[in-house]
Amino acid sequence: MRVGIVGGGQLARMLALAAYPLGLRCTVLDPAPDACAGQVAELLQGAYDDPACLSQLAQRVDRVTFDFENVPASTARALVRHIPVFPPPLALEIAQDRLAEKNLFRELGIATPPFSAVDTLAELQAAADTTGLPAILKTRRFGYDGKGQRLLKAAADITPAWDDLAGDIPLILEGFVPFEQEVSILALQDAQGHTAFYPLVRNIHRQGVLRWSHAPCQDSGLQEQARDYATRVLQRLDYIGLLAIEFFVVNGRLLANEMAPRVHNSGHWTIEGAATSQFENHLRAGFGFPLGSTDTIGCSAMVNCLGEMADRPTVLAVADAHYHDYGKPPRPGRKVGHFTLRASDPLTLNQRLASLLPEDLADTLLPPDD
Ligand code: AMP
Repeated sequence: MRVGIVGGGQLARMLALAAYPLGLRCTVLDPAPDACAGQVAELLQGAYDDPACLSQLAQRVDRVTFDFENVPASTARALVRHIPVFPPPLALEIAQDRLAEKNLFRELGIATPPFSAVDTLAELQAAADTTGLPAILKTRRFGYDGKGQRLLKAAADITPAWDDLAGDIPLILEGFVPFEQEVSILALQDAQGHTAFYPLVRNIHRQGVLRWSHAPCQDSGLQEQARDYATRVLQRLDYIGLLAIEFFVVNGRLLANEMAPRVHNSGHWTIEGAATSQFENHLRAGFGFPLGSTDTIGCSAMVNCLGEMADRPTVLAVADAHYHDYGKPPRPGRKVGHFTLRASDPLTLNQRLASLLPEDLADTLLPPDD
């Protein structure tokens, strides 16, 4: 059997690496001739909206999935007419629009930060009055890793922020959340409605980019709430595959920030830190194989390598360290790889992490009682 993956980045690459032991082969569709998944899977080079490429992909594979959510909705709709597609195109469409996403959360009774749609300067001013400042103005579509966002601290910031982003309307204004931490849940559902959940992950971002994740997050009081919220989304969307939802924790409550209808950066630790990786489980769900155990193996820290890889001998010298080079040329800020450290207890994990965490993140090490 063969799986088609639209998008040939690192997520497709790690999906392909998880597919082979299951007896699945992969074809990735990507416009770039050097897409990094092409090093480990068959690459179909072409545009995501090229009907000839889509038809070739649909003929070549048994099912299709995605490695990023900004695949044109028309592509997903075109493919689903010919071949099973997971997750469902509706999930992709909703996740492409921050307003649709927040409206879905609201409809399902999932708490979110306050938000308002903004299409004009007058609407921005009115939204700032309702939400209060500070607030964050975001593009509704095609924003990722903190791109397309402006922080509004005071009324004087409103017009400059509008001037910066007006070319990218529609926009959304969200209340700024003074969060205690950021966490995510990785949830799975198959076609029969079986679900599985990995434990909550604590995520540390800088300038909107995930720098490192720690699993399992020790705040187990939030686990039930996160599972309940994720279950509502999985059921509402007849979801198949892995779904990630990112939350802010504020005053001990979860506020949903966004969801990703795909395997997720905050789940890379599952390759070594869980009985079944998120990549394998996404494929199991999509192909109707029984879901694998999401039990953790000790505790894990996953650190992203941005711009360039961490020094390989230094990382590999640490006990239970696992190195993942995505085979991408280095470029400032680019996610070129990650490494995962595993340990039997949080204290040991902290000690191992201390020597490898970039200096600017030293203050984000786990608190001693974590
Ligand atoms: P996003 O692209 O929405 O995931 O935002 C990237 C990061 O910016 C988040 O992980 C947070 O660290 C920060 N951020 C986004 N929205 C808010 C908000 N409403 N309040 C506080 N921080 C936010």
